[in-house]
Formats: sequence, C-alpha cells, structure tokens
Amino acid sequence: MVEELDPFLEEAVRLMGIPCEGKSIFPILGELDPCVVRESAIQAGLLPESARVPRPEVETGSLPSRPPVLCPGCPHRPTFYILNKLKVPVNGDIGCYTLGLLPPLSAIHTCGCMGASIGVAHGAAQAGSPERHVAVIGDSTFFHSGIPPLINAVYNKAPIVTIILDNRITGMTGHQENPGTGHTLLGKESVIVELEPLVRACGVKHVTTILGTKVDLIEKTLKEYLKLDEPAVLIVVEPCVLLPEERKKWVPLEVLADKCNGCTICFRIGCPAILKSEELDEKYQRPKALIDPAMCTGCEVCAQVCPRDAIPFRTVEVE
Ligand code: SF4
Ligand code: SF4
Repeated sequence: MVEELDPFLEEAVRLMGIPCEGKSIFPILGELDPCVVRESAIQAGLLPESARVPRPEVETGSLPSRPPVLCPGCPHRPTFYILNKLKVPVNGDIGCYTLGLLPPLSAIHTCGCMGASIGVAHGAAQAGSPERHVAVIGDSTFFHSGIPPLINAVYNKAPIVTIILDNRITGMTGHQENPGTGHTLLGKESVIVELEPLVRACGVKHVTTILGTKVDLIEKTLKEYLKLDEPAVLIVVEPCVLLPEERKKWVPLEVLADKCNGCTICFRIGCPAILKSEELDEKYQRPKALIDPAMCTGCEVCAQVCPRDAIPFRTVEVE
C-alpha cells in the first residue's frame, strides 16, 4: 500500500484480513514523490538495484522565496497587525488564519491542533505565566473543538482573551458551510448558531462583537480585555473576501504618491497587493508604496494605518 502519511488504507485492508505491507516499506512522513517511492522499493527488494536513477537536479537559485500569506483584503489581517503591535503571547489554531504566524505579521507563537489555542492559553495561565495569553480561533474551528476548552477556561477562571475570527465560512478547506452559516454541508437551509449568545452561555461575561475592518476598535477592545482578571472573548466578524458575494464589492484603492514618504507602515500589514514603488521619497530615499489594482480588494486596512492619509478611502460603494 503506497499512501502518504498515516497507514489509513493499510490498516483498513489488514482489518479485512488481507495481508498488506505499507509503512514497513514507505515512509510515514513527507511527500511520496517518484524518487522516494522508487528508493523505498529498492531497499525493500521489490525493485532491483539497477532501477535506481539519480534525483533530477532542480535549479531554484534564481526563484524568489514565496511563503504563503493571508490573501489581499483578508479580514483577519487587522487583528494580527494589532496583536503584533501589542506584543502579547498568542496561541493559534488551525485554519487560514494560522498564516498570521508568518512575517511581517509574526503574531502567533504556538499552534498545535484544532481547538488547541484556548487550551494552551489556559494552560499558560494555570502555569503562572505573568503575561495575559491570547487564543485565536476561527469560527468553524470554534464550533468544531473550541467550546469545551472555553468552558474549561471559564470554569477555572483563567484570565485569557479568546479572539474568534468569524469570516462567516470555513475558509482554509474551501468554503464549506458550518453551524454559523445557516446551511448544511449539502446546501440545505438550516439554523444559524450565533456565536455571541453561545459564548455567553459558556459563562463568559465579557464578550464583544466587532467588525473585522475596524482597526482602532479592535485595538481599543483588546487593550481593555487584556487588563481583565477573568476570561474575555472578542468576536471579530467580517466575511471572507473570496466569497462570491464579497468579490462583487472589490474596488481597488491607490496610493497618492505625492503624499507617501515610504514610511513602511502599510508594508507591515503584509498585504500582497502593496508593493514597493520604483519612486523614492526625495527626503528619505525610501521606496514609496504602490497598490496593485489587480489584487487590491479595497478593504481599506492600509488606508486606516497610513499616518499621512496617502491612501484615500474608497469613494465608490458597491451593494
Ligand atoms: S503608510 Fe502611507 S506614507 Fe507610509 S508607505 Fe504606506 S502609503 Fe506611504
Ligand atoms: S485596501 Fe490596502 S490592505 Fe486592503 S487589499 Fe487593498 S492594498 Fe491590501
């Protein structure tokens, strides 16, 4: 049985009483590319030594490195920008928002498995961490495995701040419905499980729901919650910008080059649509910012952080 990662099919076949070999020959970790499969088969005596061929040389020297990033206009970006600014320990979870750990946002410090964010933050508090720990978890992950650890944190009065990033869909795995969307996985209409009443029912007294694009409001509320001695939950709600109905609202912004002095603040939000212009600021000789209109969704987060009003807010509203 040649399968990547765990011996899922191998065990199922063996349970049917059929003799089977798999992980005794092929590795349990990493990608099974043709070279790995061929080499494993040779070592197990399934292929002759003469079947060995050298791994092809791949020229990568001239390719720029392209780590994964949050999409342009991603509604999670402001929260991670603020968490980075506040320099608090952040425990992440599994979803597209895990990308908040990468530079320039660099705002996640632990990430284990689905639902681990709240439990790890709670554990840090129980272990006597002098800092206020934050847990960041997506809406569908919260429904899946965030509720028991939240109840546990409430029950033990852990002074942690949980941020539920509610993008109204299951983002990372391809926009599947979840209990918060009002539809079943088969597309049938269903109930909408509201996050705020659910969190209150878990016993959390301090709960606020904020729009994901409101940079200042997220910062203000987080700062207040970080001073509390009991659990608090901030629900940051803003639909995934790649949802079909959200795509219709995209209106790209632009940078006013005469106002921009290349201060780099908008670069720090990590939006792939913000580029370095070839034009340098006369005084500081720094590259000015430039927005790629083909990528920009017009989320206005860069406009909110620019200290020189060099990125005007959108003038066209699309229903
Ligand atoms: S934040 Fe404003 S002034 Fe600074 S680089 Fe960006 S557009 Fe220019
Ligand atoms: S408005 Fe700014 S932050 Fe939003 S997608 Fe466009 S360039 Fe990126």
